[in-house]
Amino acid sequence: MIKIEELHKWFGELHVLKGINMDVADSEVVVLIGASGSGKSTLLRCVNFLEIAEEGTIAIDGKVVNPKKDIKRLPGIRQEVGMVFQHFNLFPHKTVMDNVIEGLTQVKKVPRREAIKTGEELLEKVGLSDKADVYPAMLSGGQKQRVAIARALAMRPKIMLFDEPTSALDPELVGEVLAVIQELAAEGMTMMVVTHEMGFAREVADRVVYMDEGQIVEEGSPEQIFGDPQNERTQAFLSRIL
Ligand code: ADP
Ligand code: MG
Repeated sequence: MIKIEELHKWFGELHVLKGINMDVADSEVVVLIGASGSGKSTLLRCVNFLEIAEEGTIAIDGKVVNPKKDIKRLPGIRQEVGMVFQHFNLFPHKTVMDNVIEGLTQVKKVPRREAIKTGEELLEKVGLSDKADVYPAMLSGGQKQRVAIARALAMRPKIMLFDEPTSALDPELVGEVLAVIQELAAEGMTMMVVTHEMGFAREVADRVVYMDEGQIVEEGSPEQIFGDPQNERTQAFLSRIL
């Protein structure tokens, strides 16, 4: 579903991704871990083409995307790759329902009535059917993040990217968001997830990838990476956070 080859990204002089190679199969859940600044967010943003890598290729669902040549296709490709951020970025002046259906009505030009039907299904899925008509300010952080997930799902993506989706939440609100992500995984959504929730990573990941200084240092099953990491840097990282 995702094939990344020899990806390099610079911010000016700063070499942030140094030759990333990664395949993500259909329905696979890959959890990315690594210290702050190691390039995890940049990698996800490249997969969604919010950042354009200077070198290397990314193929989505078998199609190589060349951002410079395919610039007209990028909006369509972005619809196939949903992304959820640490900060939810909901529109404060729109209701929950209108936040969820914004992309459907504005980008996909789905008639409002039809979009609302989809919105109702998705709000039910994330457990927020009763919040359709309220404004984001009335919601807890966990509820806001679930709205953001519903909004991303409304575009019917083939892939979902989660960048530290629970890092901004109070501890007691983390579980409800992880439960929604876990359900998506169980339904077979292809996902890349950056998280510091190692218990969750262990449960949800098919594969754990450890990144350091813009490179993949080690990858394997959760049992391997958490139970018997081979690389010194992985060992040091895990001993700091576990
Ligand atoms: P992580 O998500 O693993 O914490 P990031 O991908 O956010 O890492 O950042 C990797 C490196 O790239 C960091 O050194 C960060 O400061 C730098 N960086 C990220 N985004 C930008 C940007 N837009 N401009 C310049 N430097 C950036
Ligand atoms: Mg990050």
